[in-house]
Amino acid sequence: MEEGTPQLLRCLLRAKRHLTLLQTHEKTLAALQDKLDAWQDGLDHLPTPIYLKDVGGHYLGCNTAFSHFVGTESNRVIGQTLADFLPPDVAEAHRESDLEVMRSGGVIRVETDVCVPDTGVRHIMLHKACVASPEGGLRGIAGVLIDITERKELEARLTAAAERDPLTNAYNRRKFFQVAGSAIETANEGERSFAVAVIDIDHFKSINDELGHGEGDVTLCSIVDTLRAHEEEGVLIARAGGEEFFAFFTGDNASQAAAILERMRADIARYCAVVTGIGTVGTISIGLADFDPLQETIDHALRRADLALYRAKRDGRNRLCRAD
Ligand code: GH3
Ligand code: MG
Ligand code: MG
Repeated sequence: MEEGTPQLLRCLLRAKRHLTLLQTHEKTLAALQDKLDAWQDGLDHLPTPIYLKDVGGHYLGCNTAFSHFVGTESNRVIGQTLADFLPPDVAEAHRESDLEVMRSGGVIRVETDVCVPDTGVRHIMLHKACVASPEGGLRGIAGVLIDITERKELEARLTAAAERDPLTNAYNRRKFFQVAGSAIETANEGERSFAVAVIDIDHFKSINDELGHGEGDVTLCSIVDTLRAHEEEGVLIARAGGEEFFAFFTGDNASQAAAILERMRADIARYCAVVTGIGTVGTISIGLADFDPLQETIDHALRRADLALYRAKRDGRNRLCRAD
């Protein structure tokens, strides 16, 4: 009994040491869990969806914004893949870019439209980062989804404001010269025939004078809509200023310019013209000039078209005249 006492003591001491070690581990574990919870809590407070996926595309973690984004709860995301939330073709496209970032390393940015539950279609900028494991291998991918819908909408509004006339929504002069200039620049050797036209509304002032400026604006817009209804025939229409417009034709369309403009003129006479004290007004007069950009600038061609327009006015309006 006495001989066994030191052995028992040793056993007790060993057990105590294990217990202390276990308690230290438990404390460390609890501290780590606290840290993890604090991180998760912090991420859950962010409105930006964030996730971590393993090499096979299974979610290892995400924040609340991400689980809302895919229309479920956080604990239902872990272990799933994108194919569990998205149509197969969309999931496949994302998997492709996941593989790409894991191959190349670093970060890639992908812009995509996503249909978000209860919100509708959003434009998303996706940042995907390749995450290495401490052993030097691959752990997977971390991703952040930044909603850039408002920024995109603002960009579209700014672009429209810079290139379109706010009343009629037709292209402005600046956009006209930009589009025509690049069409001329990129034309091949055999496609160097172009045409420009200057179009002016007949006796537009009398519409303003007799029916009011508001009615004048309505007539202006309906004339632009009628002109632009022919855009699919291959003509570019822009509001040059006031009640005057430019038209631009390239290649095959240039040889059809007179016929297309005649159809526009006839449509406007039929659908937009009104009667005032001086007779039928709101028709259009047109001056048309063919040109070869190797021989003449577009500005010069427009001046010739303008002179032809004066002839059309002088000869009675509601007609087309070709430049000399
Ligand atoms: P013509 O057949 O010789 O071209 O006669 P016109 O009356 O059309 O030409 P004029 O140059 O005398 O008048 C053009 C008018 O167009 C004057 C101007 O107030 C009007 N106008 C220009 N821009 C606008 C606009 O945005 N809205 C309205 N309502 N009127 C405009
Ligand atoms: Mg006019
Ligand atoms: Mg005018």
